[in-house]
Amino acid sequence: MASHIAAVGLRKSYWKGPNEVPVLRGVDLEAERGEMVAVVGASGSGKSTLLHILGLLDAPDAGTVLVDSQRIDNRPERHRDSMRNHLFGFIFQFYHLLPELTALENVMMPSLIRHGAWSYWKERRRIRHEAAELMQRVGLGHRLDHCPTELSGGEMQRTAIARALAGRPSILLADEPTGNLDAASGQGVLDLLRDLNRERELTMMLVTHDPHIAQQADRVVRLAEGRIEEWVPALL
Ligand code: ADP
Ligand code: MG
Repeated sequence: MASHIAAVGLRKSYWKGPNEVPVLRGVDLEAERGEMVAVVGASGSGKSTLLHILGLLDAPDAGTVLVDSQRIDNRPERHRDSMRNHLFGFIFQFYHLLPELTALENVMMPSLIRHGAWSYWKERRRIRHEAAELMQRVGLGHRLDHCPTELSGGEMQRTAIARALAGRPSILLADEPTGNLDAASGQGVLDLLRDLNRERELTMMLVTHDPHIAQQADRVVRLAEGRIEEWVPALL
């Protein structure tokens, strides 16, 4: 159930006192259904800002975000909430797992929030079963009851990936998912994302400043001076 996503003419500035700091100056970018696109760029070039706008975590000053040719950035807040939960899956550099919950509970958490207390109670067996299956899929069937502090970095990121999949997203947005991992665990996480991209036809937008990671995507673009340009590996 992949989706096409496109950004058209995105502009975004931050203000430092009276000074406008332009970050995105007209970004055009798209990913085909099931395509994995990598976005590279120097630190501070606006990669996270771009990903947040694509996933409706932030609003652009100008420009539009389209999914399957429908504009989504101007929908009512309720609809945007639902899209953040069901259309998009998010993965972050620092995992953002809740330390007081087990790995399995972390994966269940988005479903718990989505369902509210009563229907969660009714559906908890199914939610737990699905979360356990996802943990199995990311290679952590033996770590369900571990707390995040008992997991390695790679295992924490795999748990975060399982959590992102729990909402059955069609677009996965990953912000430096290997940025805090050693080369071997980083490659393991990338292999997992690549497998999921193929087997679930997930559309993926992957932000990274690691050229070895980026070149494994279907296509690589570079964000520089607020615009998307062609990627020339030697520039990195
Ligand atoms: P990247 O992810 O490529 O490192 P970011 O998107 O995080 O870049 O940031 C781009 C620029 O915007 C940076 O100069 C950063 O300091 C600035 N910035 C990001 N978020 C904010 C914010 N909430 N308020 C002010 N400036 C911000
Ligand atoms: Mg960033």
